[in-house]
Amino acid sequence: MGEVWGEVSGSPMLSPQRLLTKSSTGAVLIVTTMLAISGNGARSQELYGASPADIKDRLAGLARSYPEWIAGFDDEFLILRNGQKFAISDGQAKKSFEELLEKPDIDDMFYATYPAGTVPRQPTRNSDPGRVRFEPLFVAMYGDCKKNGVAAKLRPVEWVPRQGGGRVMITTVNGVDKALAAVSRELDALPHDFARYLRPSAGTYNCRAIAGSTARSMHAYAAAIDINVTYADYWRWAASSAPTWKNRIPIEIVRIFERHGFIWGGYWYHFDTMHFEYRPELLPKAPG
Ligand SMILES: [Zn+2]
Repeated sequence: MGEVWGEVSGSPMLSPQRLLTKSSTGAVLIVTTMLAISGNGARSQELYGASPADIKDRLAGLARSYPEWIAGFDDEFLILRNGQKFAISDGQAKKSFEELLEKPDIDDMFYATYPAGTVPRQPTRNSDPGRVRFEPLFVAMYGDCKKNGVAAKLRPVEWVPRQGGGRVMITTVNGVDKALAAVSRELDALPHDFARYLRPSAGTYNCRAIAGSTARSMHAYAAAIDINVTYADYWRWAASSAPTWKNRIPIEIVRIFERHGFIWGGYWYHFDTMHFEYRPELLPKAPG
């Protein structure tokens, strides 16, 4: 839902401008509270942007995940096959969390490790692996929806057809359509009890801007899917600025998506449990 780019609801509670204001205020409040309660170094966790120690492995994983696009990397740049070069680091290591989301560089995308295979639980503060995306790379691959560059690359995929899920439109770039079709086949083979979590899908492609924000979700690239909203939990629905994690999505569903390159929004501090997006670079290397 939050990872739908722009809110579908007209509710004033969900108005993006208000959310931005709330989140800056909320961050200040949380820091104050954490220091007051514990005084144990919470402040040091408030700054982001330093390159992770294992950045070379992460970049290798990125190149391996998108071989049609990424030619390689050196100490400074990620190099695309079309000649585009992106600086791996912008040299800034003192970003606020909002700046991390709005203005990330390549290495910022790996600021948090996706906890593949672990039992889902309350994530640590601001741990949103996958939610930070370096937009120029994704625009280069999937197209710019604001310039009508995404829609022509979509194709319909039958969504859990045995359970009557209908069709969803998804990008053909990076084989996301084939990956989602494989997910759909495996989900469709689950016992009937699982169907209620899966259909109807709450959406795939969505090109809408959040007012005052430049950050796009993977829905803007048609490389994400929301499953049935009925069983979803979403951080913005929580009244508190420090969201208490909740989840009702069975782990079997998550594991099937992960096997085909999709990460789950239920592993995020800013949780979005109906949300899955194609981000194989964040998943462990497939065996063999
Ligand atoms: Zn979503």
